[in-house]
Amino acid sequence: MSLNLRQKWQENVKGFLNLLFPPRCVICQQSGSWLCPACQDGIEYIRPPVCPHCGQPTSMPRLCPSCREAPPQIDGIRAVGYLEGALRTAIHRFKYSNMRLLATPLGQLMSQYLLQNHLPVDVVVPVPLHPHRLRERGYNQATLLAKEVEKALGLPLLEDALLRVRSTIPQVGLTARERRDNVRGAFHCADGNLKGQRILLVDDVCTTGATLEACSLALRQEGVGVVWGLVLARERWR
Ligand SMILES: [Zn+2]
Ligand SMILES: [Zn+2]
Repeated sequence: MSLNLRQKWQENVKGFLNLLFPPRCVICQQSGSWLCPACQDGIEYIRPPVCPHCGQPTSMPRLCPSCREAPPQIDGIRAVGYLEGALRTAIHRFKYSNMRLLATPLGQLMSQYLLQNHLPVDVVVPVPLHPHRLRERGYNQATLLAKEVEKALGLPLLEDALLRVRSTIPQVGLTARERRDNVRGAFHCADGNLKGQRILLVDDVCTTGATLEACSLALRQEGVGVVWGLVLARERWR
């Protein structure tokens, strides 16, 4: 099916579902949308100036001390907002309560971010889940978000460019070093035609960026020139 036909079909299905299940904000229950404008206004957005590498807010647009000391293995990481409040709750529902419909408003937040903050990328690649986790959940939340970015910005999506070849324990509660060790070698680039491409990695959340860096390393090993990471939300820098 062509992209246009597929989009029309998806719009029809969405219209039908909206009739059956009228959208209600997952935060405040207000009817009309899955994430109402008032709750979106309450999100703690991360605004420039930020460190060009890690995306941490700085008083001037220059490298933060930790990136000056050890530059990350990725061209840059950006996050729409902090993993707090409404954004945290919405992501939680999206991931753990099977609320795939939230991919649309959450993906739109990422697309808006990219429209306002240009990143030099040509292709979108979602951070993969391990096949076991994918079977359990039934969907990869990063892929659903990446599809919204593809739709809004017309950037081609390479869904299977990266594979998670080793399952990892959840990063929660690990130190920065343990996180890096946990995801080291967990990803493999399965696409041999990415040489010189500029890739945007998409994921829902990030804590220290260790997962995005491990993905970036796998892509660079295949000759990818530029890798950026965009997540919906990240934890505050300490
Ligand atoms: Zn609301
Ligand atoms: Zn930095």
